[in-house]
Order: sequence, then structure tokens, then C-alpha cells
Amino acid sequence: MEEEKVYGPFEVDQRIRAHSTYYAGRIGSRFYTELRDRKRILGSRCEECGKVYWPPRQTCGKCFSLLGEDRLVEIGPLGTLETYTTVRYSEPVHPRKAPFVYGIVRLDGADTGTAHFIGEADPGELRIGMRLEPVFEEDRKGNILDIRHFRPVR
Ligand SMILES: [Zn+2]
Repeated sequence: MEEEKVYGPFEVDQRIRAHSTYYAGRIGSRFYTELRDRKRILGSRCEECGKVYWPPRQTCGKCFSLLGEDRLVEIGPLGTLETYTTVRYSEPVHPRKAPFVYGIVRLDGADTGTAHFIGEADPGELRIGMRLEPVFEEDRKGNILDIRHFRPVR
């Protein structure tokens, strides 16, 4: 017979299962549409402080100015590898099976970097500061994985 569990005053067993989808917002929708239809990568430039964000955002994190659609600018497509790591264990949340390399890529013209896959590279050849280029999927669906990965510029 299973022993009865004794609970403390603030302890409870609980499982929460939640499935959700979300709207990317006006700025995010433009970003993904341009990526899907024209293979253009957009950032947003703050007119007040000059900071350029990738991916674009609606509010400047530095000076809190609103960044509307009129602040979208084309950035990249080339960029710089800021840091990277090799993921050796698959997790359900990962869109790809391990092993794979995640890197932070700062696109030319942007002040921020974004995490994405690094591919077509031997992990031994990767170096912080190396130049990267995006490889786009043929069948793009309007999400960040329309960029299959970034690879070293040869
Ligand atoms: Zn700003």
C-alpha cells in the first residue's frame, strides 16, 4: 500500500497544461512577413537614441521611446557571431534535435544580437567575431525558422 503523503501548509500537488498561440503584433507581423516574402530582415531604429534592435520591437529599451512601423529599417543580412554554444541534449522545447549550435548573431546595422542556429560549420572552426550569413528556407512560413541557420561567410 502506498504511503500517504504529508503536505506542509503551503504545499500542493498540481499539474498545469497550457497550450497557447499568440499574435506577433503589428511590428512582429511586418518582420515575419518581410522575412517570408522577401527574405529581408528588419530591425527598428530609435530616432531618439539611435539604437537599432533586432528583432524589431515596439518600445526602445534604452530610452522608452515608441518605435512604430515607420522606424523599421532593413539590417544585415550579414552579421557577426557574438557567442555560441553546442547543445548536446534534446529537449521538447527545442525545434531541432541535438547536437546543434546556438549562437548570438548581431546583424550589420543592429546594436543587439539574437539567438539562432549556426549551421554548415565545424564547431572547431567557430570563433567569436566571425562573419556569418543567413541561409533561408525554400518554403518559408512566416516565422523565425524561415532563416534555417546562419553559416560562416566563405
Ligand atoms: Zn531609444
